[in-house]
Amino acid sequence: MCSTEWSFGRILCPACGEETVEKLAIYMANQFDHVRVEACETCHYYIKTVDLTKNGLAVPVVDELATIPLNLWAQEHQYVKLQANLLGL
Ligand SMILES: [Zn+2]
Repeated sequence: MCSTEWSFGRILCPACGEETVEKLAIYMANQFDHVRVEACETCHYYIKTVDLTKNGLAVPVVDELATIPLNLWAQEHQYVKLQANLLGL
C-alpha cells in the first residue's frame, strides 16, 4: 500500500468509526472528477480518495499535489486531514 491508497469501508469513518451515513459527507469538485473528499461530520477529519475507475492513469502523489485546492476548501470548512501527504501538506 502506498501513502494515499486506502482500503477501508466507505460507510465508516477511519478516524472515529462513525457509521451514520448522514454524518459521512462526500464532496466532489467539477475540475477533479476522479478525486473525492470524504469527510466526517462527527470528528471533522477527512480523507481524499482517488477513483481509479475514472482515471486509470491517476498517480496518487501527483493527484495529491494537483488537488491541493480541495485541501484548502476542506480547511475552510473546518475539516482536518486525517493523513498528511508526503510533503507534509
Ligand atoms: Zn469521524
